[in-house]
Amino acid sequence: MRPFLLGFLLIALLIPVADNASSNGEGAKQTAKQTAVEKKTQVVLLGTGTPNADPERSGPAVAVVVNDTPYLIDCGPGVVRRAAAAFQKGVAGLKVDKLKIAFVTHLHSDHTTGYADLILTPWTLERQAPLQVYGPKGIKAMTANLLKAYREDIHIRLQGGEPSNHTGYKVLAHEIKPGVIYQDENVTVKAFAVQHGKWREAYGYRFETPDKIIVISGDCVPSASVIENCRGCDVLIHEVYSTVGFAKRPPEWQNYHSKYHTSSRQLAEIATQAQPKLLVLYHQLFWGTSEADLLKEVAQYYQGRVVSGRDLDIYP
Ligand SMILES: [Zn+2]
Ligand SMILES: [Zn+2]
Repeated sequence: MRPFLLGFLLIALLIPVADNASSNGEGAKQTAKQTAVEKKTQVVLLGTGTPNADPERSGPAVAVVVNDTPYLIDCGPGVVRRAAAAFQKGVAGLKVDKLKIAFVTHLHSDHTTGYADLILTPWTLERQAPLQVYGPKGIKAMTANLLKAYREDIHIRLQGGEPSNHTGYKVLAHEIKPGVIYQDENVTVKAFAVQHGKWREAYGYRFETPDKIIVISGDCVPSASVIENCRGCDVLIHEVYSTVGFAKRPPEWQNYHSKYHTSSRQLAEIATQAQPKLLVLYHQLFWGTSEADLLKEVAQYYQGRVVSGRDLDIYP
């Protein structure tokens, strides 16, 4: 609990100096101004991909945006550019220099290869506050190693004549345990353990905001903790693979997937118990099936509202 409190205090101290204005263009500014008055929770899918390099689907990343403050879950490749795209679509909270807090589900590369981007690009675009990152054991070492890998860049940007600040590239990395791990005036964030093959730590997250409860599974096999944390939640964002596609996979891959991921059939059972108001299929492994096929697979065993997530979808 103590590192969390310390982190929280640091944020409180840093926020007043963090809100400098930098512009990404007049058009985007206008759109942002128009939507800023809505002040509601928005869930934005920044990337719905997997390790498959699908050009239509960026690496896994979701933003929960509350009162124009973004909270990111995972940082797959493309995360910063997708945030910029969402900002251009009118999500004022996803202005790149506002990306200051992220929660990592686990350290698989498809969920973290955008991490260096999230550290460095918003800083270059004048973010002053250090990035706050919460994640499993190993996130501190990954952070330190990334900063080391980019030390030449950081040095040149600080000392080479570029107008830059001396705080925005820094990262406060927090290694978490299950329970409430973050709280501010917009959100209470709870981490819960999920099972993802041989990973020692993999987390799902529950976000409570003034108007919504949002649960994201992270990568996992069917996990009771997802059901317990949703129980009628507003939005459940859950990973899934196609049961039909799975049948065509080689046996060694079937063995792997069944220990690391959740089938459409299994997800239907989870959703039937968890009763989310909206189920969002996420991190979809299609293996030759279509989005409509996958939705049908789920709907065959689940009566509730379900959609197949795409990059830059916004809920509600
Ligand atoms: Zn993944
Ligand atoms: Zn994974």
